[in-house]
Amino acid sequence: MRNMQVVSDIERRQPIVWPLLPHRHVERILAELSVKRSDMEDAHDRWTRFSRLLMHLFPELLSSRGQIDSPLLPINSPDLATSGYIFAKCDHDLPITGCIKARGGFYEVLLTAEQIALQNGILDPGADPICLTEPEARKALSRYRIVVGSTGNLGYSVGLIAKALGFMAEVHMSADAKGWKKKRLREHGVTVIEHAGDYSEAVANARRAAQKQLHTHFIDDENSLALFLGYSVGALDLERQLKQAGVEVSARRPLFVYLPCGVGGAPGGLTFGLRHVFGEHVYPVFVEPTGAPCMTLQLASGEVDRVVPVSEIGLSVSTSADGLAVGGASLLAANLIQELVSVCVTLDDTTMKQWVVRAWREYGLRLEPSAAAAFAAVEKLRDFRSAYDTSDVLPSTEATHVAWTTGGSLLPDDVFLKEIA
Ligand SMILES: *Cc1c(COP(=O)(O)O)cnc(C)c1O
Repeated sequence: MRNMQVVSDIERRQPIVWPLLPHRHVERILAELSVKRSDMEDAHDRWTRFSRLLMHLFPELLSSRGQIDSPLLPINSPDLATSGYIFAKCDHDLPITGCIKARGGFYEVLLTAEQIALQNGILDPGADPICLTEPEARKALSRYRIVVGSTGNLGYSVGLIAKALGFMAEVHMSADAKGWKKKRLREHGVTVIEHAGDYSEAVANARRAAQKQLHTHFIDDENSLALFLGYSVGALDLERQLKQAGVEVSARRPLFVYLPCGVGGAPGGLTFGLRHVFGEHVYPVFVEPTGAPCMTLQLASGEVDRVVPVSEIGLSVSTSADGLAVGGASLLAANLIQELVSVCVTLDDTTMKQWVVRAWREYGLRLEPSAAAAFAAVEKLRDFRSAYDTSDVLPSTEATHVAWTTGGSLLPDDVFLKEIA
C-alpha cells in the first residue's frame, strides 16, 4: 500500500525518518524468501576458496590471509549516543578499493571467473582457483569482457579485480562520476565510456553495449543476486567482530545498523545477512540523500512489480554523495528486504558534508559523503526518538549502534581536503 505521507515528504525533498512497522515474525519472512541462508553461506565459502588467489593478486591481503574485511572501531562519542555503544564498521578502509564495492563487485567478478573457468575446463569443481593465475588460464579469461555501469565506486572495484584476473573491462559512467575516478580506472587499463545522463542511463547504455558483444558478462547493479550475496557475507564478519568485542545482541541489547543506500544491493545484502544472524534483535536503518531517495520511494510506493524512479515524483537526481546518486532502486533488492528494513532515513547534502568534517576531526576517519551519511543517520534517529514516541516500533532499551562507513579512504588528498575545508 502506498504511504502518501512519506511520498509527499520526499517529493518536497524533506529529510525524513520513517520507521516501518513490522507485520510478521522475521523467521516467517526469511523462510518465504527465494534466497536462503545457504546462499549466503555458499558465498562465504566461495570467498574462502578464492583467498589464496586474492593474496597472490593483491599482496596487501597477505596480512589478512586473503580475506577482504575491515575493522570494527569503537567510537567514543558521548555526544552522539545518549546511551549504549557506537561502532564504525570501517568499509571505507577495505583493502584495495577503499569502499564497500570490494565486497559485492569483487564477488561477482570472482564468481564469473569461476564459472567461465569451469565451463572451459580450466578449473575442476572444488579445486583451488589459484590455478587461474597460470598463463594458459589468464589467456582464456582475456577473451572475456566484464561490462558495468557505475557512478564510480562499482566501476573502480569491478575494473580493478577484472584486470587483475586478466579480463577485458569496460566501465560506463554517468555525468555524476568524479573525474579522478575515471582517470584512475584508465590508468589501470580499464576502458571508460562516459555518458551525459544519469546513473540509470549509464547502466542502460552498458547493458545495451554488453548485449551486442560475445563473451561478455554484464554486471547489472540494478538487478544482481551475485552482488547482493557478495555483500551479505559482511554480516558474518560483523557477527564475529561483535562477539570478539564482547557485545551482546539480544532483546535487552538490540543492534542498530546504519547502511547508506544507493540501488540497495549493499545495504540489502547486509540486511538479509544481519536478519539471518541476529533475527528480530537487529534494526537495519537505510540512509539516503534527499536528492536521490530511490529505495525509500520504492518501499513507500508499495509497488513490487516495477521500479518507481524518483523522476516520477518530479525529482532529478542531485547529491554530492555520488555513491548514493541513484534514481531507481534495484527491484530485486527492494523486494527481498521490504519487510526486513526497520527505518528509512533521508538527509540533505549539508548534513552529510558536516559529518565528513566531524568524522575526520572527532574520530580521525576519512570518509566520503556517502559514508558519513551513516553517522548523520545515527544522530537523526537519536533526535527523532527523543522527539516522538516510537515504542510501538523500536526498542527503548540501551542499544548498540553500528555506522557502516562505506567508502572514502582512497579519495585523493586534494579532493578530501576540499571536503573538510
Ligand atoms: C555503492 C555505495 C553505496 C551503496 O550501495 P548500493 O548497492 O548502491 O546501495 C554506499 N556507499 C558507497 C560509498 C558506495 O560506493
